[in-house]
Amino acid sequence: MHIVMIGGSDAGISAALRARELDPAADVTVVLEDAYPNFSICGIPYYVSGEVTHWRNLAHRTTADLEAAGMRLRTDTTALRIDVAGRKLLVTTAGGGEEVLGYDKLVIGTGAVPVRPAITGLSGPDALGPADGVHLLHSMGDTFAVMRTLEEATPASAVIVGAGYIGLEMADALTVRGLHVTQLEQLGEVLPTVDPQIGALVHAELAARGVEVLAGTTVQAITTAPPGGPGRLEVIAAAADGTAVTRQADMVLVVVGVRPETALAADAGATLGSKGAIAVDPMMRTGLPDIYAAGDCVITHHRLLGETYLPLGTTAHKQGRVAGENALGGNRQFAGSLGTQVVKIFDQAAARTGLRDHEAAAAGFDPVTTETQADDHKAYYPGSHRITIRVTGDRATGQLLGMQLFGHKNAEIAKRVDIAATTIYHGMTVDAVSDLDLSYTPPLGSPWDAVQIAAQAWVRQTRPR
Ligand SMILES: Cc1cc2nc3c(=O)[nH]c(=O)nc-3n(C[C@H](O)[C@H](O)[C@H](O)COP(=O)(O)OP(=O)(O)OC[C@H]3O[C@@H](n4cnc5c(N)ncnc54)[C@H](O)[C@@H]3O)c2cc1C
Repeated sequence: MHIVMIGGSDAGISAALRARELDPAADVTVVLEDAYPNFSICGIPYYVSGEVTHWRNLAHRTTADLEAAGMRLRTDTTALRIDVAGRKLLVTTAGGGEEVLGYDKLVIGTGAVPVRPAITGLSGPDALGPADGVHLLHSMGDTFAVMRTLEEATPASAVIVGAGYIGLEMADALTVRGLHVTQLEQLGEVLPTVDPQIGALVHAELAARGVEVLAGTTVQAITTAPPGGPGRLEVIAAAADGTAVTRQADMVLVVVGVRPETALAADAGATLGSKGAIAVDPMMRTGLPDIYAAGDCVITHHRLLGETYLPLGTTAHKQGRVAGENALGGNRQFAGSLGTQVVKIFDQAAARTGLRDHEAAAAGFDPVTTETQADDHKAYYPGSHRITIRVTGDRATGQLLGMQLFGHKNAEIAKRVDIAATTIYHGMTVDAVSDLDLSYTPPLGSPWDAVQIAAQAWVRQTRPR
């Protein structure tokens, strides 16, 4: 049995590891177009900030670890075409030629590529690029280009276009490196994946750390600045009321989301679904014979929404594992995502799981959302922090649908959102959160955990007796 994985990141490597784990005799080849198998691109901001001191430290596993697990790595190799009927894959070779690899099962893990928005100066023959200090950010190659700009051009300032979680992490990272950062976001508040009330708290943390935040501001052009100004690049934008906004900086980072990389699968005849991602069933089958797909290149099965597109590293790992197991003849299903995510912004963290109010309403629920503040541990013990918690539940059934949290990075925001994720996964009610047997000692918690206090507030406000 020869299983070939295309893509050497979270999905492809997870599939390869699972196949080898289940069958140490399986012949597993991973084809990847760069030289960085199993690198944690989620860690890029912390390498840029200097907190991770060498790019090699971003490897989840070294090449030697992966080879010891029994997979063959074909680095610097691009998969060009899939011959579905012949079960063959055309790939490039190191010498610039082409080669055909036969396979019994194929797992496509081609991931996502950063969106290049329609901003003048970003595309076309005269487009500005890394050599000018203008960057997109997704791969290790992009990271090295950013580091070259930082080390060789020693910029004093940066404009970040986009205030999603990657934009926020990079605002944190570049500020830590000593740059003055201006962050421009088209939508009305930063981190638009959470409610604006939580976004406003993130905004305040950015501002407190010296980041200039301009929400509701749409970037139209990036050009070379006239000499004598405060930066070598000029970013031209429009505020929501149409007022022109201009900022100069030495470096511009454009991070406005990703789109699935599906050309190879689509050419082979795979069906595409939500956001143009490869349609797969919960077993990660594409519908093409013997071809599975996983990670940022595929649609996401969401436990409350059905089909959606939610590219996340956690999801890519799980889907890859399912694809690897099933490629070997298994019968595993991807249980579905809840879009659980967390981001650190300087000393604060914001997290969400499940649905926000408007998403729940669109999905046919009757949502009610309440907001509560609670301490992360007993306030009499030094160092306690207030956590803001927004709970979304269904008025009719009491089902917990979503939770969003904001608080200090040491206030266990990530693990508290995971309590909510677990509760939603099991279809429990908001009221039942109070029944969970959670841990308590005054320096670390309270007899009623913060998420239980928030759940009780939701019940009080929503279902008065
Ligand atoms: C800066 C940053 C921070 C992030 N932080 C988080 C986080 O904190 N939490 C989280 O859950 N997620 C995070 N993510 C998202 C997460 O990294 C992705 O969801 C995850 O990497 C997806 O894995 P993947 O294997 O599906 O795809 P990718 O990581 O996109 O990898 C696909 C690989 O396939 C290769 N490839 C594509 N086409 C071909 C071809 N034809 N031939 C050969 N190789 C090919 C590509 O070169 C690429 O290396 C972050 C992403 C970035 C960029």
